[in-house]
Amino acid sequence: MSALLIDGKARAAALRAEVATGVAAFVAARGRAPGLTVVLVGDDPASAVYVGAKGKACLEVGMISAEHRLPAETAQADLLALIGRLNSDPAVDGILVQMPLPKHIDSDRVIAAIDPGKDVDGFHPVNAGRLAIGQPALVPCTPSGCLLLIREALGDISGAEAVVIGRSSIVGKPMAALLTAASATVTIAHSRTRDLAGHVARADIVVAAVGIPAMVQGHWIKPGACVIDVGINRIALPDGKTRLVGDVDFAAARERAGWITPVPGGVGPMTIACLLANTLSAAQARS
Ligand code: NDP
Repeated sequence: MSALLIDGKARAAALRAEVATGVAAFVAARGRAPGLTVVLVGDDPASAVYVGAKGKACLEVGMISAEHRLPAETAQADLLALIGRLNSDPAVDGILVQMPLPKHIDSDRVIAAIDPGKDVDGFHPVNAGRLAIGQPALVPCTPSGCLLLIREALGDISGAEAVVIGRSSIVGKPMAALLTAASATVTIAHSRTRDLAGHVARADIVVAAVGIPAMVQGHWIKPGACVIDVGINRIALPDGKTRLVGDVDFAAARERAGWITPVPGGVGPMTIACLLANTLSAAQARS
């Protein structure tokens, strides 16, 4: 049996349409559009592509998009000063500092300088803490998107066994917190986990956020499970071309899973859609 594909592109399009409706209502009520400001330090080409995509997505749902592109040698103090100005600018609802930052800048310090109410990436310790203790928070976009995809496939996940592979602050840990809040029984696996295959074999829901191509083997998957592949890995092909693959051995896992996300076209499109949803929520909460 072959798993059903979870269509992240379609789910993301539906979420963007919901956000556009919310933005129109916000404009009608408040007389201004929600605004997202993205800060990019340096000239990393991948980061520049992400920033461009975020700006375009904002405009498509009727939000105001602004960008600050700073040179790689920008002093940390100057970046912190810019964040201070954005924090007090009433037209700015969301602030996103594109990661990674150049090595001479302390990214924890930069994240902590963002007003938690404008922290649409959900990386500020106040938002991470609120999520951990079950209070309303701006939640990191990738795990939020994963939860929407899991709900699309399974509906109610109360009591389900979930394994999250990876414990980063931007994916694994918030993903585990969201699944716990949704009443799943959650195991967090990482590089020191013994018998990863055994944990995965018990899971009704597997979220893989590791960064190693196809490390989750197909035969580990419990028949009928919902598999969410967060990984984005570019691999070289024998013909010299490259291809994007996830952290799950897709072809083999598809034979056992009930639902599975493709890479690309699964989790990826959800991330920007959730960023737009966070920006709208931040604007609604502020005004
Ligand atoms: P990190 O490198 O920050 O975290 C990777 C995690 O994987 C760590 O917790 C690490 O464990 C764990 N890990 C490493 N090796 C193993 C192993 N052999 N077995 C089990 N666990 C292991 O990565 P991110 O969380 O930032 O990203 C993960 C993946 O998701 C990447 O491919 C990234 O590109 C992708 N990504 C995709 C996004 C999207 O929009 N689709 C957004 C963000 C990320 P330990 O803590 O012990 O080191």
